[in-house]
Amino acid sequence: MKKAVLIIGFLTFCLLLLFFIFCPRIILEKGNITIKLDEEYQEPGYEGKNLFKNLKDEIDITNNINNKKIGQYQVNYKLNYLFYNINKKRIVKVIDDIAPIITLKGNKTVNVCPNKKYEEEGYEGYDNYDGDITSKIKVDYSDNKISYILSDSSNNITKEERALVYEDVSAPVITLKGSSNITIYKGGNYQESGYEVNDNCDDLADSVEVKGSVDINTVGTYTITYDVEDKSGNKSSVNRIVKVIERPKYYGNGKIYLTFDDGPSSNITPYILDILKEENIKATFFVLDHGTSLDYLIKRAYDEGHTIALHSATHDYSYIYSSMNNYFEDLNRISNKVKNIIGIESKIIRFPGGSSNTVSRNYCYGIMSNLTAEVTNRGYHYFDWNIDSDDAGSAYSKEAIYYNVVNNLSYNKTNVVLMHDSSNKQATLAALRDIIKFGKDNGYVFEAITMDTPQVIHGVNN
Ligand code: ZN
Repeated sequence: MKKAVLIIGFLTFCLLLLFFIFCPRIILEKGNITIKLDEEYQEPGYEGKNLFKNLKDEIDITNNINNKKIGQYQVNYKLNYLFYNINKKRIVKVIDDIAPIITLKGNKTVNVCPNKKYEEEGYEGYDNYDGDITSKIKVDYSDNKISYILSDSSNNITKEERALVYEDVSAPVITLKGSSNITIYKGGNYQESGYEVNDNCDDLADSVEVKGSVDINTVGTYTITYDVEDKSGNKSSVNRIVKVIERPKYYGNGKIYLTFDDGPSSNITPYILDILKEENIKATFFVLDHGTSLDYLIKRAYDEGHTIALHSATHDYSYIYSSMNNYFEDLNRISNKVKNIIGIESKIIRFPGGSSNTVSRNYCYGIMSNLTAEVTNRGYHYFDWNIDSDDAGSAYSKEAIYYNVVNNLSYNKTNVVLMHDSSNKQATLAALRDIIKFGKDNGYVFEAITMDTPQVIHGVNN
């Protein structure tokens, strides 16, 4: 009996020994590890073996790691060998160790008016993991600085500061109304046109000192000085230069007849009429037949004291210049239309292309010689021009149109200025006020053409 027990015990011992001798093991290097967001997980190494054999290749490895998400993950190592079933795991932590970023709007050192409170210019908080976390920024105000503290969901902390300096270092700004360079004729009228003053801290509307004066009866250059100082001692000063010059010899002897061809147009003519009205001057409109919908503009121009003159019904060179009959048929048509609108017959006309045109040669040789004589026979006064704004030619800018006109004005002639109020003449409209200003500044008088106006005519070329 004792022997049997010993034998069973011995056999059990041998079995256990065998079990342990063949039993495989998994050995992990480094144990649990931590990686950063977005970092690739790198296997740190492992081994599998028993006393007799390397079993590394038999190990099956799986993991659930997501390196885009903070958390705790597992790597599972599994080894099936004979009747053994060995498992081991490694814990992998994915962490965020990047602090959020605070972006301050405005400067980090701010000058604040001594008599004012700082108004927050704004801030933003952004974290690589949490995204926009502006609302989590803690703002701490103290006398001379503002602290902005931001912690992300992994407790990474960022701090920003804004320094407040209570000092006004900006000078006031004086803006002159009207020109800072004025030229007036001797004996004319100088009027202070005023100024605006702006300061970052103070209201200085009543603090500007204006020095200097203009003797309008003595030729010379005068300086008007505008000085201002804010409550922190920042100063500004601007000058206006006023030149008093002798009147030109012919001052007051010049007349300007502004003429507008090819209208009316709904987008240009009303605004030209507005300017003429505001400037209280009269002009002349050589109209076309653009249909009844624009009749009201012809009526308005007439009612506001301008001269309505005849240009053409069709403005079609190939029709009107192919025969005398055609020309007068067209002229009668526009004449009747105008008469219907304004109630009187206009006898003031302008030939399409002017009386000097050569385009008519294409349709009827010599027709301009005959027409200029015949319209005169029939009691018309035809007008060409002696100043071309070139707004139907190559002058596309308001500056070009302006200079084409003002550079050719003269006190010694009847200045008849050719312009257009057809629908694409925005530049003409834009130049008009400056042309009028130049004329007025230089003593010209603006008039509408009448039957008493000396005719300005070109030489006939056909
Ligand atoms: Zn025309």
